[in-house]
Amino acid sequence: MPRIRILQPNLRNKIAAGEVIERPASVVKELLENSIDAGSTDIKIDISYGGKHLIRVSDNGSGMDREDASLAFERHATSKLLDEDGLFNIFTLGFRGEALPAIASVSRIKLFTGTEGSGSGIEAEIEGGELKETRAAPPYAGTSIEVKDLFFNTPARKKFLKTDSTEVYHIIDTVTRAAISHWDIGFRLTTDRQETMNLPVASGTKERLMQIFGNEFLAELSEINAKNTGIGLTAFVSKSENFRNSRSNQFVFINRRPVKDLSISHAVYKAFEGVLPRDRHPVFFVFLEIPPHKIDFNVHPAKREVRFVDKEMVYKLVYSRIRDVIRAERTEYTRPFTEAPVTASSEYQFPGSPDFSANRPVVAENLEFNYKPSLPSIYLGGTFVALSGRGGFTVIDYHAAHERILFEKLLKDMRSATRQLLFPVQVRLSAREYRVLLQNVDIIKTFGIEMEDFGHNTVIVRALPEELDDTGVGGVLSDIAADLIEGTASNSPIKEKLAALIACHGSVRGKELPPPEAISGLIDDLEKTEHPDKCPHGRPTRIFFSLDDLNKMFKRK
Ligand code: ADP
Ligand code: MG
Repeated sequence: MPRIRILQPNLRNKIAAGEVIERPASVVKELLENSIDAGSTDIKIDISYGGKHLIRVSDNGSGMDREDASLAFERHATSKLLDEDGLFNIFTLGFRGEALPAIASVSRIKLFTGTEGSGSGIEAEIEGGELKETRAAPPYAGTSIEVKDLFFNTPARKKFLKTDSTEVYHIIDTVTRAAISHWDIGFRLTTDRQETMNLPVASGTKERLMQIFGNEFLAELSEINAKNTGIGLTAFVSKSENFRNSRSNQFVFINRRPVKDLSISHAVYKAFEGVLPRDRHPVFFVFLEIPPHKIDFNVHPAKREVRFVDKEMVYKLVYSRIRDVIRAERTEYTRPFTEAPVTASSEYQFPGSPDFSANRPVVAENLEFNYKPSLPSIYLGGTFVALSGRGGFTVIDYHAAHERILFEKLLKDMRSATRQLLFPVQVRLSAREYRVLLQNVDIIKTFGIEMEDFGHNTVIVRALPEELDDTGVGGVLSDIAADLIEGTASNSPIKEKLAALIACHGSVRGKELPPPEAISGLIDDLEKTEHPDKCPHGRPTRIFFSLDDLNKMFKRK
């Protein structure tokens, strides 16, 4: 008796759906790609209940005739690939002919489509992968696909879906990525009948970024344009000091397709080496144009990953051009860029006094992040302070120590430290950040940040914790949003994360070092904390060297 059999087409499609359709946002991604490939200039996305009940993508693209409409839902049916050569020369976002049958196998679909000038449109229903009916409908120029009850017939999949809010964050993210690289298309997203994004056709990438993230955000980015052996690079990256605590605003596109590519992200981080403080992240948008025959998108079913013919060249181009811009900017604002580590200066003094109460601070050069010209001349700058006493000396990481103190203070009596702003600050956010912040105003308020909705992806900040100044509020809110999104997804304790984040923003990094009196105050405060030896991220705040340690280190014992 043979045991092997060929799987039924519907089961094959479900298996394919397992790879490409993970959640509502994956449906949105596939439908958007199809609308873009169809040459649309206007795309509307409607969602209800996080996309679990309904996802509708309507476009004004080429549309389909009756024959195409019934073929589109067959597996391996595509208008985008003709032969093997085509597979290595892809100009469209889709080419596998898998998305529609995969979506159809796990949902109920209604299709409306029609081609321009044709006397009638077409209406069809597909349930669990079966084409039920194709009817003539009023003329329609474009396509509208309604996906209802996602995963109704795959309960195991359905169980993995998160709350409606979390699914909406993913959908906004997907629409955002498509919109960033397709500024020549208008996008509108409504979630539960509320307008969430509205992006009219823009004049270029810059205007599109402005529509999504606002002017202030854009002003904090440097633009890079370069071309080398047929590879085009456009990038927008953080100017010095405009760093974030999360990687949430980092985007890479190859031939207008959003991709996850570690080597390109690495090239950007490498370009920021020597400028980027530890645990901070640059904002970046990298757009690469690579001749299609030099790149393979057929690596990942959802086409998220790529293989380059000349990986090293792409890496070098991204790294060197971004680095050049960072260097030029540093020369402009501060002293010239030095790539070699700065050696400890002769101004460094070793504290001789054994009296701990004297707390004479001596500051060692922080090799990582020191180019502020405005530090007081008694200090060299940076973050380390050495203090003598208790039969040895203690090296304190001022930043880490300050973070520990703020962190515990924020967790204990948060409101007492609130400062009402004389001039409330307007902050323009991205749609996703705006949404998650407004849904969590109460939690955020417990940390002394009071804000209100101002409409159009903008909030008004009326109060801040004492430790935060109002200049970088946009960055703080964006980081808080990233933590909240991650927190809701992973159900991790959000209060501690937020306290650590605000403590990090509020601590002294990048600001002028305080006078000696303040340093001794800090040491007292540090002593009073529950965990004086570690910052909220687990790094040491202070390291003690006893006379014994020194004797050993100098091989005198
Ligand atoms: P692929 O995009 O890889 O070709 P899909 O399953 O996503 O595969 O779509 C199958 C085919 O259906 C496409 O090749 C295209 O011809 C047609 N199609 C899908 N969506 C649209 C749309 N919005 N407008 C016009 N044609 C579409
Ligand atoms: Mg497709």
